[in-house]
Amino acid sequence: MALPRFNRILLKVSGEALMGQGQFGIDPAAVASLAEEIAQAKGEGHELCLVVGGGNIFRGMAAAAKGFDRATADYMGMLATVMNALALQNALEKAGIDTRVLSAIPMSSVSEPYIRRRALRHLEKGRIVLFAAGTGNPYFTTDTAAALRAAEMGCDALFKGTSVDGIYTADPKKVASAERYDKLTFSRVLSDDLKVMDAAAVALCRDNNIPIVVFNIRQPGNLAKVIAGGGTATIVQN
Ligand code: UDP
Repeated sequence: MALPRFNRILLKVSGEALMGQGQFGIDPAAVASLAEEIAQAKGEGHELCLVVGGGNIFRGMAAAAKGFDRATADYMGMLATVMNALALQNALEKAGIDTRVLSAIPMSSVSEPYIRRRALRHLEKGRIVLFAAGTGNPYFTTDTAAALRAAEMGCDALFKGTSVDGIYTADPKKVASAERYDKLTFSRVLSDDLKVMDAAAVALCRDNNIPIVVFNIRQPGNLAKVIAGGGTATIVQN
């Protein structure tokens, strides 16, 4: 299925995309190849902004299950996303792309604070804006931060990079007969509890009419292909 051409895109990348073959942390080679993918997609002339997760370093819920105070653990998770954003910024700039990191938790020595109008200006100037520290609030996820920033930036679509090429009837890594959807409605994703993004993120996209495109970011060259309207993906819309 051919996707429409989207001009301004928010790309959500999980922290796991930065850990390569490892089980934890940041693998410079994985970050460099992700940056190359993004650079290639940027070359297509889109305005791009990014939200990076932190799950490769710290996840609030998992830490809370082991006894951490949930809000404190979530703040730690948000700090992890700042490390990832800086790593990705570094790799993107090595790939020749002008970037800015804007953090929802002010950290003026390493990033700009998140100011909506400033972010918009960076995008208009052709820079890639990396939104760090999620929403800045505990009890949320970076998926919700992605939906929120996509709405604030007036993005035409939210691209969610995963390790499979769309949304399936069941986990394709576990169920061989699982089938991929070409398109879905937000209501269906919510009512069938399809695991794509958390419900808050899906509802925010539904209410603001921002399609979600789920695609495989691990396949080399795929990001540019999907952003250009080709390749395989599932699109979720109203
Ligand atoms: N987090 C948060 N508020 C936000 C975004 C993130 O508290 O607005 C915390 C939360 O603890 C989460 C962690 O940051 O587990 C890392 O983000 P996430 O799990 O969404 O990363 P991903 O799974 O995408 O790598």
